Amino acid sequence: MKKKGICVYFVGAGPGDPELITIKGKRLVEGADVLVYAGSLVKEKVLEYVRNDADIYNSATMTLEDIMGVIVKAARKGKSVVRVHSGDPSLYSALREQADVLESEGIPYEVVPGVSSAFASAAALKEELTLPGITQTVIFTRLEGKTPVPEEERLSKLSMHGSTMCIFLSIGMIKDVVKELMVGYPEDTPVAVVYRAAWEDEKIVRGFLKDISAKIERADISRQAMIIVGRTLSVKPQISDKDYERKRSKLYDGKFEHGYRKKG
Ligand code: SAH
Repeated sequence: MKKKGICVYFVGAGPGDPELITIKGKRLVEGADVLVYAGSLVKEKVLEYVRNDADIYNSATMTLEDIMGVIVKAARKGKSVVRVHSGDPSLYSALREQADVLESEGIPYEVVPGVSSAFASAAALKEELTLPGITQTVIFTRLEGKTPVPEEERLSKLSMHGSTMCIFLSIGMIKDVVKELMVGYPEDTPVAVVYRAAWEDEKIVRGFLKDISAKIERADISRQAMIIVGRTLSVKPQISDKDYERKRSKLYDGKFEHGYRKKG
């Protein structure tokens, strides 16, 4: 529900498919007087939900000051302002710096979550990123670009955990990604790259650390892609039936009981 007194909403638009925005997000976009969207990755189709008489801004060409100028001015006039980010607004979206401005201006706001491209990619791959006996951890990370990454979070260091990793913003540097990952993961660790998950031209490339760079080069993918690495990917063909039996979840295992189900 729309809360009283709030007129600025940060909305996660999801990965691209206009059906993957939340019902709440769609309703807010439909009601927006002013809408500011994050350029390249928010699909034009999501913008079809916007009213014809709404003011629309593409933030790709704007500075933080431009963006906040538009948002603050409209909010002060009591207009309904929607700031649309791709995927979920909590990941690599510059949400914090915008929210800080609103807080210092005393303007209340709300954040509406979205389907991150990490999850849209996992869905495209039909993979579970956490498997019993393999890993129970997923790391969201990126390679350093213009934005620095703390030394302790170098891919080579994170690779020591052997968990599943979703690597954003790094496909253009796939060779460096692979080099760093090989420090901790064996070269036959499965990797999948999903280009534009949930778009009509979505592309999936699967391989292993040792061959993924060449495959990505051949597929000519250099942006807008998610790299997922880890042993949960297509693990079934690599282990015997007996191993997989051991790796079944306890949640649906008849030998175990829990709050909602008794044994047998
Ligand atoms: N907040 C967004 C991430 C923004 S950073 C989210 O939760 O998804 C932009 C990066 O996200 C891209 O470089 C790419 O790695 C990834 N990305 C965004 N949309 C994508 C999509 N549809 N398919 C694959 N990767 C995507």
